[in-house]
Amino acid sequence: MQTFRTHGLLPSEALKKTVVVLGLGSVGASFVADIPYEFGMLVLVDPGKLKVENVERHPLGKSHLGWNKADAAKDFLVKEKGVPAGRIKAFSQTDKEVLPLFTNADLVVCAIDDKPSCRRVNDWCFEHSTPKHNIPAIYGGVYPLGLGGEVIAIPTPREVCYRCAERQRATKVLPPAHAGNYGLNPELLGSADSPKAIPALKASITAIVSEMVPLAWRMLFPGDDPVTPQIRFRALEGWIEVARIPRGSTELEIEVREIGIHKKLLLAENNAKITPVDPEGYHGYLIRRQPWPKLVVQWSRCPSPHGGQNVQFSDL
Ligand SMILES: [Zn+2]
Repeated sequence: MQTFRTHGLLPSEALKKTVVVLGLGSVGASFVADIPYEFGMLVLVDPGKLKVENVERHPLGKSHLGWNKADAAKDFLVKEKGVPAGRIKAFSQTDKEVLPLFTNADLVVCAIDDKPSCRRVNDWCFEHSTPKHNIPAIYGGVYPLGLGGEVIAIPTPREVCYRCAERQRATKVLPPAHAGNYGLNPELLGSADSPKAIPALKASITAIVSEMVPLAWRMLFPGDDPVTPQIRFRALEGWIEVARIPRGSTELEIEVREIGIHKKLLLAENNAKITPVDPEGYHGYLIRRQPWPKLVVQWSRCPSPHGGQNVQFSDL
């Protein structure tokens, strides 16, 4: 079968590109289902199996229950989408085991629901990027309960990396309610025997993947509109705290001003707010649903001191 859908859309260099996708849960699998193909090599990596509680929000259905998620995603792309089997490699191993085989990667997509893994992937991209071969990465995940999610795009890890993004966002990356492995098996909330359906979770995944795909595309085929390092936040339900801002900082001033401007423009609803300072000297930065993502761009590179002067939250 040929992939007629993308004829004339994919640049011819696509067949020279190697794309590595780590994590084939609902976000990773939706990503590979949505991005145009085919590439020279699509590498799918996930040690886990598809379970009944994953199915509702996962592009793969009941017929793949019990399959390794990477194998299942490959099977889906080959059978349902017509991608040549020879252009996909599936691994039921971890990122640690598989990444070393693909130092030629042109893009790493990290859809693993845990921050230490994301940092490890970041460090690998940093170490293996050279002046001749840069390895951009994109990180995507949803928050527990499907309240929203975020995408972090790192076009040149040796200039600005995932850890820079975390630091810029604040030392306390997420508030206690969201701390730890954000997005970790959100389907599993409730008991293992009776997984609970979470309203809006599928919507969060769709929203996050729809941010990831075009960014990934632009990082693979940089034209005259290169991707800047950025974090995109989407809120689906209620107010979500997405960052902490130090008391008395330049960022705080900028954000307070920005929120004031929104109010003056008589926008029907304000979509960001700042909470009172906490005992540790941080204000919370909260966002809520709007039709476009909240964006943070341009932060300082690590390990230089992070003054925070370069950052601004804005609407896309
Ligand atoms: Zn960094």
